[in-house]
Amino acid sequence: MPETATRTRRCRDCDGFPTVVITTGRTAFDGTRQTIKVTCRTCHGTGTAPAGTREAARV
Ligand SMILES: [Zn+2]
Repeated sequence: MPETATRTRRCRDCDGFPTVVITTGRTAFDGTRQTIKVTCRTCHGTGTAPAGTREAARV
């Protein structure tokens, strides 16, 4: 792979969408839908994968 390849690494688990909101199917007292905010456990909400050990060793 050429060195000019993009360095941006998207998280494999969430594919760049680290935070999602899921509706529970219930409605709150004010009529709005109840939602749960879920953050990706792998990237902790950053959307990018942590730097690999191989990358760090090269620097
Ligand atoms: Zn993620």
